Amino acid sequence: MFIVTIDEDQCSGCNACTEGCPAHLLGFSEDKAHVVGDESECMGCESCTSVCPTGAISIAEM
Ligand code: SF4
Ligand code: SF4
Repeated sequence: MFIVTIDEDQCSGCNACTEGCPAHLLGFSEDKAHVVGDESECMGCESCTSVCPTGAISIAEM
């Protein structure tokens, strides 16, 4: 089980991460990415972290 979190202070608003999430957990509003679904539904695929230029996204295995 994985938990995804986004540090909005680190998010630069590039919107590179939101489209690629297979679990549709990432949304974009007010120039920042946000976790919009149940963060515990993260699959740990790292497609979001791999495209984030600022390291704002963290995936933790529980
Ligand atoms: S690791 Fe994969 S499933 Fe989890 S939030 Fe990122 S893109 Fe979505
Ligand atoms: S890829 Fe990183 S910097 Fe870009 S919108 Fe997503 S969290 Fe923010």
